[in-house]
Amino acid sequence: MSFSPQGPLHITNTLTRSKQEFVPLAPPHVGLYVCGPTVYSDVHLGNVRSFLSFDILFRWLTALGYKVRYVRNITDVGHLTGDVDEGEDKIAKRARLEQLEPMEVVQKYTNGFHDVMRVFNILPPSIEPTATAHLIEQIAMVERILASGYAYTANGSVYFDVPKFAAEHPYGELSGRRVDELLANTRDTEGMEEKRSPLDFALWKRADHTHLMKWPSPWGEGFPGWHLECSAMSTKYLGLTFDIHGGGMDLKFPHHECEIAQSVAADGQVPVRYWMHGNMLTVNGRKMAKSEGNGFTPEELITGNHKLLERGYSPMTVRFFMLQCHYGSTLDFSNAALQAAEKGLERLMAALRGLEKLAPAAKPMPELDAQVQELEQRCVAAMNDDLNTPVLIAELFEGVRLINSARDGKAALSGPALERLRTFFAALVRDVLGLRDESVAMGDDKLLDGLVQEFIRQRAEARARRDFAAGDAIRDRLAEVGIILKDGKDGTTWERA
Ligand code: ZN
Repeated sequence: MSFSPQGPLHITNTLTRSKQEFVPLAPPHVGLYVCGPTVYSDVHLGNVRSFLSFDILFRWLTALGYKVRYVRNITDVGHLTGDVDEGEDKIAKRARLEQLEPMEVVQKYTNGFHDVMRVFNILPPSIEPTATAHLIEQIAMVERILASGYAYTANGSVYFDVPKFAAEHPYGELSGRRVDELLANTRDTEGMEEKRSPLDFALWKRADHTHLMKWPSPWGEGFPGWHLECSAMSTKYLGLTFDIHGGGMDLKFPHHECEIAQSVAADGQVPVRYWMHGNMLTVNGRKMAKSEGNGFTPEELITGNHKLLERGYSPMTVRFFMLQCHYGSTLDFSNAALQAAEKGLERLMAALRGLEKLAPAAKPMPELDAQVQELEQRCVAAMNDDLNTPVLIAELFEGVRLINSARDGKAALSGPALERLRTFFAALVRDVLGLRDESVAMGDDKLLDGLVQEFIRQRAEARARRDFAAGDAIRDRLAEVGIILKDGKDGTTWERA
């Protein structure tokens, strides 16, 4: 279903540090670019949260009726271990350690990344370009930057001239940095003998014969700088200026700041109208980091196989838990919060299942028609207010109360009110929040039903021969695994606890 038009969408633009009305360049089309993963290791939970935030943006824009071209790249070359122009290529290093061809590393971790995205029901983008498939575009962009005078070559490498660019254009606006302060705080780094200023960054790096990943260029064999791919690919697929660019907060500087400078230098246009950044994860109040020993992987979170986890949590519990926090706030992981989320999600999903079974009341209460309409408006308003998923979820629980009252005969909904509630409630839960009903997925399973029916038959047999202890034992063991048997006048049925 489409929720438009219900008032404008406002999003927090990192560039202006304010909530702004979102007005696309060419409605109904929206161009969205999100920095994707560097595929050299298993995806971190922090990345999952970031991609989930932009999944919600993509889903909400789509629900509003926009046609979104959503580009999320795969970084498969150029991201060095030092994150700036230092160290070894992350993928080449992994290839060396695992004795694989670099493209085997890329494929392995790309597959793993896609698996994790599927598990958490994060939708695939419209285009998923890779850096190595866009060498021509990147080299062409370096040539344009050289032609405009904001880059220089040194010993087979090409560097962006930050001080020269900053003297003539805004630089540091996105991340709130100033060139003089940056200069005062920058230590000498690798490659300084080639760079004119420590602030300069590599557009193209020369590769010697020991390098695993290198390509011919006008400056000799080498590889592109990390920041370049996003500029080249966003320009190719979304144009010189596009609507929204997203990424994790850690990418604001230098990565996104460099993207802006590259595009302005190459093509004379500010590339992005709205910048959006997702916040970080903490665990029990401390920053999630490998060095802290609290950086569990998505898999560990699901299996519970980590010293900080009391047990595992289902992917939809994790998704729901993350959505109870606004994307712009830090999100703290704890077992207590995850367990509360698990209960909340089950209540929400049980209400959604119950809603489908509700029949219109014989004597409807007219005031409920208005209540249902107002509830929908408040839900839409929450999403339009900078994708405020925690407020949306709170509103949905208002809906849960209404549904449960109707189920208990305390609220009488008219046919149109019920239909309205059904339509928007399901659309918000399933399509906008992307929550799958994990218990229904199992309840619909024919195999499971077949097994439970076999236990029901055995229990009936035990009771027929008056062995009630054996019958009760079957019922109790099923209850332990979450399957509740109910005896009625038409025989025994089952449902999940
Ligand atoms: Zn990027």
